[in-house]
Amino acid sequence: MEETRTPVPATHAPTSYGHCSWHQGSAEGVRLIDVHEQGSGAGGSLFACPRCMVAYNLTAFADRPL
Ligand SMILES: [Zn+2]
Repeated sequence: MEETRTPVPATHAPTSYGHCSWHQGSAEGVRLIDVHEQGSGAGGSLFACPRCMVAYNLTAFADRPL
């Protein structure tokens, strides 16, 4: 009996490639965690990759109950 190999379906979750503020490197699927107001300089948006979200028990900004 031959098993039919189905290709892994593409997830519908949008993956964004960006900088993870926790491990200080580029990562795929980063999520916005927090937005910090900073007096000067570039914005203080904090993004984390899925791995760091698990490691640091982070909750995505959009997933937070308000
Ligand atoms: Zn990370």
